[in-house]
Amino acid sequence: MNTVTNGKVKRYTGTKLNTKGWQQEAVLRMLMNNLDADVAERPKDLVVYGGIGKAARNWESFDAIVDSLKKLEADETLLVQSGKPVVVFKTHTDAPRVLLANSNIVPAYANWETFHELDKKGLMMYGQMTAGSWIYIGSQGIVQGTYETFAELAKQTFNNTLQGTITVTAGLGGMGGAQPLAVTMNGGVCIAIEVDETRIDRRIETRYTDVKAVTLDEAIKLAEEAKRDGKALSIGLLGNAADLLPEMINRGFIPDVLTDQTSAHDPLNGYIPSQMSLEEAAELRATDEQEYVKRSKSSMAQHVRAMLEMMNRGSVTFDYGNNIRQVAKDEGVENAFDFPGFVPAYIRPQFCEGKGPFRWVALSGDPEDIYKTDQAILREFGDNEHLCNWIRMAQDKIQFQGLPSRICWLGYGERARFGKILNDMVASGELKAPVVIGRDHLDSGSVASPNRETEGMKDGSDVVSDWPILNAMVNAVGGATWVSVHHGGGVGMGYSLHAGVVIVADGTKEAEARIERVLTTDPGMGVVRHADAGYDLAKKTAREKGINMPMLKD
Ligand code: NAD
Repeated sequence: MNTVTNGKVKRYTGTKLNTKGWQQEAVLRMLMNNLDADVAERPKDLVVYGGIGKAARNWESFDAIVDSLKKLEADETLLVQSGKPVVVFKTHTDAPRVLLANSNIVPAYANWETFHELDKKGLMMYGQMTAGSWIYIGSQGIVQGTYETFAELAKQTFNNTLQGTITVTAGLGGMGGAQPLAVTMNGGVCIAIEVDETRIDRRIETRYTDVKAVTLDEAIKLAEEAKRDGKALSIGLLGNAADLLPEMINRGFIPDVLTDQTSAHDPLNGYIPSQMSLEEAAELRATDEQEYVKRSKSSMAQHVRAMLEMMNRGSVTFDYGNNIRQVAKDEGVENAFDFPGFVPAYIRPQFCEGKGPFRWVALSGDPEDIYKTDQAILREFGDNEHLCNWIRMAQDKIQFQGLPSRICWLGYGERARFGKILNDMVASGELKAPVVIGRDHLDSGSVASPNRETEGMKDGSDVVSDWPILNAMVNAVGGATWVSVHHGGGVGMGYSLHAGVVIVADGTKEAEARIERVLTTDPGMGVVRHADAGYDLAKKTAREKGINMPMLKD
């Protein structure tokens, strides 16, 4: 079987192994899935999502990784340095099959300039979060997190529903594309501004967005009608957010909710400057990088000024994890941080219980396997109404991209419990093939990111990055199938350090023991991180669950 046909990666499915065991097979299938045309944003460039988040450094490295995985023994470990396979060591069967380190730069040099220099020399790639750690599952990977954020916002501000409200946002890329669906799942109306028409079309094809508008007038008319009728509707509006937000203000159109998910973390490759077509932007990027970055940053300042103005006129405004406030602040917008990040505003209590974007993928490629696991959640977690509603809604509204997968936010205790259930389902033959269990790096105990996941920590420990490193080490020791440590994901170079983990449920007793260990230590790190920072809910969780923290205080 060819892995790459006509420059296209096609995911592997079925029960026949292409490698020497299911652990190695799982790594191979997830790498291929990350780059499958149904999953990745720009597979020809090895770009999975999030600006230039890549799965391998170049095609030569991709081929060498595939080749190494096909030959890898059950007691060997492959090491991958920024998308390039560098060595296979003899380890042992309970050790990870792959260890990855992506985009890490010594702190004093950790900026985009150094990264681009190294990238051009072929010494590095940008791994984003799940792109370089091979557990990206398409827009579904973020959709529950986005749904939970808007649900919490609705609870705090609008009587538990977004019905009768308009949310304005921008960016319909791999992650941002989840926003319109998350808003309509909460009953609201969404205008999502996107400068690249093909992205709008893709979200409409995959039912993440309902309709397209090519003029602001059309979008406002559709949104106001839906708001008046109490209908849920999402509109992809073609244009540049830095231009259209000020235009909305000029017309007196102030949304109820306002945020943004353009790839502002990357001023050169992610954000399109004001007043430029995609083609003009590509040309300027190719001919004058400095000028491009200058225009990009100044447009972000314009964009954030408009957000602040809308906030002052009544929009509930929050940053959605792309570091746009920091760029604006560096450009002289002194009050850029007047609106909060989404984690302190809406998500942190979940992190205190070790909850975060847990996910699993059916390696068989058969959607029935996922539907059976959905039933298992409904059966085993039947008393958790919020979770069960989510699973039913996800089944109904979320189209699979690539290998069938599911996401749901589970916390400490729940993850290990469900991991065992999945392993049992593989062992009994109820599922056709093993299942991969993983998560985003955006999780409770796996990331240090002071403008995002660790913004405004209670004890002021926002920038302490020991935690993701401890997280990766303990998960590797516990026997995760692959573990990764990345820099710069989500918010860009210099602003984050984070770790990924994936473990395979192949139905064996050995896997059961590894799953129990890893799915305990991993969310456990989230509880511990927040308990150590002084959050009462995390301290209560640690005590109730019997987590042994030597210095836990009242
Ligand atoms: P992406 O690169 O796939 O998509 C970004 C989109 O923004 C593209 O479609 C691009 O055309 C569009 N865009 C760029 N500049 C624009 C402008 N000025 N006006 C309108 N549209 C513009 O990235 P993604 O994976 O969707 O991630 C988006 C951002 O969100 C990134 O910064 C990422 O790090 C961050 N992120 C946040 C979360 C979260 O949960 N908060 C999770 C993942 C990623």
